[in-house]
Amino acid sequence: MIPGTPQIRHLTPADWQQALRDCVREPQELVESLGLGEEWVEPARRAAELFPLRVPRSYLARMRRGDPGDPLLRQVLPLAEETLDTPGYVADPVGDLQALAGPGLLHKYHGRALLVTTGACAIHCRYCFRREFPYAEQHAGKQSFAPSLDVIRNDPSVTEVLLSGGDPLTLGDRRLAALLAAIEAIPHVRRVRVHTRLPVVLPERIDAGFVEAWTSTRRLQRVMVIHANHAQELRDAEDVHAALCALKDCGTTLLNQSVLLRGVNDSVPALADLSEALFAAGVLPYYLHVLDRVRGAAHFDLPEATAMELHAGLTAQLPGYLVPRLVREVPGADSKTMLQPASR
Ligand code: SF4
Repeated sequence: MIPGTPQIRHLTPADWQQALRDCVREPQELVESLGLGEEWVEPARRAAELFPLRVPRSYLARMRRGDPGDPLLRQVLPLAEETLDTPGYVADPVGDLQALAGPGLLHKYHGRALLVTTGACAIHCRYCFRREFPYAEQHAGKQSFAPSLDVIRNDPSVTEVLLSGGDPLTLGDRRLAALLAAIEAIPHVRRVRVHTRLPVVLPERIDAGFVEAWTSTRRLQRVMVIHANHAQELRDAEDVHAALCALKDCGTTLLNQSVLLRGVNDSVPALADLSEALFAAGVLPYYLHVLDRVRGAAHFDLPEATAMELHAGLTAQLPGYLVPRLVREVPGADSKTMLQPASR
């Protein structure tokens, strides 16, 4: 361990499970704890009927008090705009339901299969493209992962299994270790990739028990794609750094995906700051997604031309390895679609 590197605290499963249970769910509490005016409460209540509010307390602690434009708050505060029906913004913008190959198993791209492991998340991001996903019927872990794993076992073209959700890290350590063991037993799978927001929003989750479960697979290469959208989610957050450091120390390849969001990170300085903060925490920026046009999130969207201008500005400022790929997910396409100006 390098001197000065943040150390993982000795936490017990009870700590992260308690933090998960203890999330803020009432608009009144969110608004009061940030010292915002009462006028934010009623619209938030109405929008939260469509997609409930959920904010971990350690994430809340990173927000500025008295600032309704805080970039972390903007990601979680339900707004009246969510209740508007905007043409072109739909329940399943990325075609998840067309790509089902088994219970909670999505097969979109060659060589990869994605398990929707759970419907649970620690945080509810208002722009989430799965905010209307029918988790009650479609998640692979509903009863047993076995039927979905059978589909993967019978398809030798699958070399990488993605664990997604919801957030797969809301599963307990034993369940995760058993799932990893079952994936490891499929000879043609080489890699496991977890998509999770927990190291950023509930870093308590990366405890000794998790590291043991995660490293229980000896054969599979382990990749974790975290999700941060703003440098303020990472800077001065010692617990987040400790969690990411623990993941790095146990041999995890760490990448980040973010979403370009109006009012959160829609400027070159904000995006450049995010890349710098990620790299300082040992994470490479991987994707910058334009918004998936999910119902209720139109107010976060930006024109594609603006997204490309911002990306060009970022490319002009940073070394290539700090510039994420600007992409859109197009339903039915056989890979993510890279967005680049026509003249390139
Ligand atoms: S953590 Fe991920 S899956 Fe959960 S609400 Fe946020 S974006 Fe959606």
